[in-house]
Amino acid sequence: MPALVLDGKALAAQWEQQLSERVAVLKEKSSGKTPILATILVGADPASATYVKMKGNACRRVGMDSLAVEMGEETTTEQLLAKIAELNSNKDVHGILLQHPVPSQVDERACFDAIDLAKDVDGVTCLGYGRMAMGEEAYGCATPKGIMRILEHYNIELEGKHAVVVGRSAILGKPMSAMLLEANATVTTCHSRTQNLPAHIKQADIIVGAVGRPEFIKAEWIKDGAVVVDAGYHPGGIGDIEIDDGVKERCTAYTPVPGGVGPMTINTLIFQSVESGEKAFS
Ligand code: NAP
Repeated sequence: MPALVLDGKALAAQWEQQLSERVAVLKEKSSGKTPILATILVGADPASATYVKMKGNACRRVGMDSLAVEMGEETTTEQLLAKIAELNSNKDVHGILLQHPVPSQVDERACFDAIDLAKDVDGVTCLGYGRMAMGEEAYGCATPKGIMRILEHYNIELEGKHAVVVGRSAILGKPMSAMLLEANATVTTCHSRTQNLPAHIKQADIIVGAVGRPEFIKAEWIKDGAVVVDAGYHPGGIGDIEIDDGVKERCTAYTPVPGGVGPMTINTLIFQSVESGEKAFS
């Protein structure tokens, strides 16, 4: 039987519809006010500029406002911290997105952690991560949370399954592993010092590619019946996993690239911004 396609693009479009309705209700209740997501872009990296623009566009599609903050390539940690403090105390702002990565002179971790927990709708603070990992309420980091939402929608069973996450970055691999653990999967987290990666991947009921190298995870390493989740996106529309026709035939389900994880990341950011707005307006 051909594998189930975990269609993040279609799901995000469907969920945007529901979010538009929630924003409309909020607007009515608060004499025209909408949740506002502040986006901070530091420097001129074209890919980051594109991502920030896409996030602002997604806000507008659901009827929300966004506040685009652009800061120069030479921005210091202190300047960025001051901007975050200003947005934290701005009552009209319900969510803050600091686009990763920032220029190398900026202490990105300090700036992420300066975001007020109530406005951490991209789930990047240490506090939010810790609370999520302990099963307490917190906004999830957008990409792994988006992956969890898509798996849940398609009723992918996680409990007792062996999930192998390749990558341990703060914004993706680590929170992904913690979320899968919270969902009662047995989790192996692999990274650049992992020995015999193929042997780990061959045991995976669920494999998550979050490595940042095109088709680094080979089709032949994926076991029959696995659920394949590819967070990677590279020029030419390929991911971190080699999902060839053979894999599509023998796996249970997979996220396409593009149109799988990517749209869910933005959708999750907007979803959590709307939630934050609802809390603020209640
Ligand atoms: P990252 O910060 O560069 O982290 C890459 C991870 O892969 C690191 O933990 C690294 O291990 C590990 N790694 C590198 N070489 C390896 C190897 N030979 N064997 C095993 N592990 C290895 O990247 P990221 O930000 O997490 O992003 C990962 C991928 O997801 C990228 O393709 C990125 O484009 C994509 N992404 C997509 C979205 C989206 O919205 N769709 C969002 C974020 C990221 P060490 O820790 O040991 O260095």
